[in-house]
Amino acid sequence: MEKALMKAAFEAMLESTTDMVFLKSPDLVYQAASMPFVKMVGKEAVSEIIGRTDMEIFADKELAKRYVADDHKLLESGENLLDYMEPIADEDGQARYGSTSKYILRDNDGNIIGLLGVTRDITRDYFARQRYQQELKYLFELPEDTYAVCYVDVDDWRVISQRKQNIEKGTIQTCQTVEEMCNAAIESIVDAECEAAIFYRNFTHAKLWSIYASGRSSMTFKYERLMTDGSKRWVRNEIRFLTDVDSGNLCVMLTAKDIDAIKQQEQKMMVAARLDQMTMLLNRETSMEYIRQVLSNEHDRLHVLFMLDIDNFKALNDTLGHQVGDEFLIALAKELKHTFRESDVVGRIGGDEFFALMRNVSEISQVERKAKDLLSVVNKVALSYPQVSVSGSIGISLYPGNGRTLEELYGKADSALYEAKRGGKNRYVFAK
Ligand code: GH3
Ligand code: MG
Repeated sequence: MEKALMKAAFEAMLESTTDMVFLKSPDLVYQAASMPFVKMVGKEAVSEIIGRTDMEIFADKELAKRYVADDHKLLESGENLLDYMEPIADEDGQARYGSTSKYILRDNDGNIIGLLGVTRDITRDYFARQRYQQELKYLFELPEDTYAVCYVDVDDWRVISQRKQNIEKGTIQTCQTVEEMCNAAIESIVDAECEAAIFYRNFTHAKLWSIYASGRSSMTFKYERLMTDGSKRWVRNEIRFLTDVDSGNLCVMLTAKDIDAIKQQEQKMMVAARLDQMTMLLNRETSMEYIRQVLSNEHDRLHVLFMLDIDNFKALNDTLGHQVGDEFLIALAKELKHTFRESDVVGRIGGDEFFALMRNVSEISQVERKAKDLLSVVNKVALSYPQVSVSGSIGISLYPGNGRTLEELYGKADSALYEAKRGGKNRYVFAK
């Protein structure tokens, strides 16, 4: 072939290639480079490269040294290097990888006259493969809390592989087809209308592709599932999309993890957040919320709000210590709870103040009886602390007579309580 043609072809290729192409002399001085190569080393123009060495153009001197050493070895060996994977200059601190081939150029007498390098940026492939291998590891090393993993080829619509452990706990069986797998999932889901059940009912090639195309790389579902022994457990399914690096097909990796212990802990914490941690009665906010619900759901009934404040409680604290004061409040709370029905609302407002809503009162005489009971409950608990004279004062407001909102009832009961204190304590007073 004509030299001029070869030169023109090389120049045309250099000008338009998306690969990083470079040409070095045997003493490793750059003679030519493509724009992607120029960009990769952080330069603007080919002229900044030509006539220079790796040590001069690479900001990363360690990388430059490595390239020089590699080139020397190659020139010594006299053999071409093909598809060698290596790190290339970082971009904004992001690691990048290239696949490089280097060709030793010789004249007609066999003397080395140059080195031609072609590097392809394979960062995306590299990470895809790494991620893929990471995902596939699941198939072999299931974490202790994960009891099933299923790898599905979406494009070929088949189960490629699956693995289970602690299987006696679940309803999962070995599924031959994607449909079987989905049906097993749907059958085990307790709430048939939950998001997970809907997802598995619509588990089709088209649906999965549309989710993937919308840019989601994963999704998770938490749901309660039925076990073979009839018990129920909370699980978390994770669906991760990945491209099979060999076939290029869209695949999903499904994992099912047991989160029952976590869920129970969460629920415990939610309940705990509603309680007064010392007395384990409902806290102020929760009591108010429940009372409001009663007032709105049963607005045609008679309800009674009791507000109780301990008399001379400071003296008990001062004489016997704060800790004994706490014990008193805890013991009293227990008794208060027993004084009311399960469906009544009993809470601690704070300090030595409590309130209770007695629901669905049919006779007003019941109210007075309850108020007396409350006073004797306080006195009973106080019997254990004979050094101090402790009793209770109570303010009482009636729904709907004294008000229709909790705010009104609360205000009225509070004023009545104040009257009880002023009147000499250890008594109850009805709101006016
Ligand atoms: P009164 O007869 O007028 O009700 O006065 P009192 O001594 O009972 O005091 P008051 O109701 O004004 O205040 C309640 C006191 O209860 C104030 C505080 O020192 C004490 N207290 C508040 N919260 C707690 C608690 O969680 N534990 C203990 N031990 N004491 C508390
Ligand atoms: Mg008090």
